[in-house]
Amino acid sequence: MKEPLKIMIVGSFVVDLMARSETLPIPGQTVKGSFFKMGPGGKGSNQAVAAFRSGGDVSFLTKIGRDLFSSVALDFYHSEKMDTSLVFKDATQNTGIALIMVDEKSQNSISVVPGACSSITFQEITKASGVLKRAKVFLTQLETNLDIIPYAVGKVRENQGTTILNPAPAQPLSDAFLALFDIITPNETEASILSGVKVVNRESAEKAADVLIGKGVKTVLITMGAQGVFLKERGSRSQFFPALPVKVIDTTGAGDAFNGGLAVALSEEKSLQDSILFATAVAALSVTKIGTAPSMPLRTEVDQFFS
Ligand code: ATP
Repeated sequence: MKEPLKIMIVGSFVVDLMARSETLPIPGQTVKGSFFKMGPGGKGSNQAVAAFRSGGDVSFLTKIGRDLFSSVALDFYHSEKMDTSLVFKDATQNTGIALIMVDEKSQNSISVVPGACSSITFQEITKASGVLKRAKVFLTQLETNLDIIPYAVGKVRENQGTTILNPAPAQPLSDAFLALFDIITPNETEASILSGVKVVNRESAEKAADVLIGKGVKTVLITMGAQGVFLKERGSRSQFFPALPVKVIDTTGAGDAFNGGLAVALSEEKSLQDSILFATAVAALSVTKIGTAPSMPLRTEVDQFFS
């Protein structure tokens, strides 16, 4: 394994508050739940944990409140031995939360309040300028405020770092914003919204990827759940990387595991194809366990997959 180069991840932290009940409450109804679980979540945080556990030299920038829930973030990062020097605290806003209600059939209703992580300031991102300039790989998503991202990408590009956008949760984006990134990693829903082409199979993925490449992105990677990953690079033929067969327990966070793993492999200067294989293994291992951040595999587990 090559010595990893710096990975900079900017993104969200939210506390996942999950309650299970027989049925989901309809408006005005209270239902009695049978199970409650609280844990660290947020796409940025999950991806940072995935990258850290799978061997990356990760700096993670996010923002939490000065409240009870902030300790869910800090306790978890400390137990993982992750660096928290770029976890900022907001004096007025609360730590982000996601209220997740799940019924017996595993249907869910979710309300996310991003809180502090949606107000990362320009001053805070400039505090990370040294790390951004050293970053070999930069990864971000769409759960934080986006006005700080062009600055961050500009710093990363000063040193020819690779920039990755996981455009989740799904929302339309300007061509100028998309063109900031070398690689984008939408799932089928996100690729459909960004391109206007409904992605359901390889053929439609190819059409959507061509639209996105036309908007200025160099490389499009569409994750297609249990099917695998579709790759299209500007000027090249498309490729498909099937998902690895594993005993599936819980697929939540598979996309986050994939993105974290991709960042690690690219930071080790693996080829794009080998990086996708590595990320596919990280994602496959994550779906064999319950949860998001706690289900991210360690590097030893990923290496075993390839031995
Ligand atoms: P989430 O929102 O739950 O994080 P996502 O929709 O962003 O997920 P997916 O496309 O579902 O991401 O999954 C990402 C990658 O994870 C897939 O491309 C695949 O490699 C892997 N994966 C997902 N589901 C499975 C599965 N059932 N078995 C093996 N690998 C899987």
